Amino acid sequence: MRKITALLLALCVLCLCACTSSPAPKTLELFAMDTYMTLQVYGDEAVLSALSQKINVLDRLLSATNEAGQLYALNQTGRVSCDRELTALLTDSLALSARTDGALDVTVYPAVMLWGFPTDDYRVPTDAELSEALSHIGADHVQLSGDAVNLDQGTMLDFGAVAKGYAARACLELLEASDASAAILSLGGNIQTYGSKPGGDWLIGITDPTGETDYFATLSLSGTHAIVTSGSYQRYFEQDGKRYHHILVPKTGEPAETGLLSVTVVCDDALTADGLSTALFVMGLEKASDFYRDSDDFEAVFYSENGTVYVTEGLTNAYRGTDYEVIAR
Ligand code: ADP
Ligand code: MG
Repeated sequence: MRKITALLLALCVLCLCACTSSPAPKTLELFAMDTYMTLQVYGDEAVLSALSQKINVLDRLLSATNEAGQLYALNQTGRVSCDRELTALLTDSLALSARTDGALDVTVYPAVMLWGFPTDDYRVPTDAELSEALSHIGADHVQLSGDAVNLDQGTMLDFGAVAKGYAARACLELLEASDASAAILSLGGNIQTYGSKPGGDWLIGITDPTGETDYFATLSLSGTHAIVTSGSYQRYFEQDGKRYHHILVPKTGEPAETGLLSVTVVCDDALTADGLSTALFVMGLEKASDFYRDSDDFEAVFYSENGTVYVTEGLTNAYRGTDYEVIAR
């Protein structure tokens, strides 16, 4: 079901991003990182294959479930001399974990596995299972020295919350080195814009997490940005009438029930946008608003369970859609 949802999402973003009468972009679609992706580039078609190759290499490197990949080997053995890209992502992820007081934590994988998300083999874990998993979760179970990564016994990494952001960041570097004049990349819920879209702003639809409409709002942005949405609607299962989704509170190992249905982050850096969209969802509106006031590198849109939309003050000019309340700095 999630693949179909991802395909629809990718297609909808594609529609919203379609040009009017300006030159048409060259488009490439692929399935990677467990989601449908659409790459659209203006002015340098050749870079499309470089982008998709890069994404596929990172997919294999950073996947917790691909047995041929390095992260899989690391999780099995607890000790691997790692590719520079993996250590770079781990370094940045640990920094984001510290910055968000552990709301984002890439060591959450033992809990993610208990709920069956990596294998679609969903079940509600017992308290005993969760507390055993929690004993392996936390940045202090990871030692990184040069290219050597050591994980304590039972600790495993999951880059599900940050890998698409890292891939978008890597793609932006390729675009900057190319002859492309502009581009928009849709990597699942992660959008990366680059340069000035011919004929107007980039229009980014934000998915209605209730499913009642396609989008509850559109962001009209010019230039280069990462726009990332995390939501409880993206991956979940139901048991005994209760819904369990895929964004977990690392300190409890349970799905985050903080009164939010989705969080969208706009940021210059794609990895930060991806990590923060997950972390702000875990924090909930109040803590996330305080976090926003203490930061100066992102803007956000929150969709709460009662249907109220909150937009941070730096994004109100770009926001078109449902009525909202402003989160002031
Ligand atoms: P998506 O993968 O749907 O784009 P996110 O970027 O929010 O959504 O990442 C959620 C994924 O990250 C989960 O599927 C899980 O693998 C992992 N994860 C869940 N909770 C956390 C967390 N608090 N910190 C880090 N990773 C998490
Ligand atoms: Mg994320």
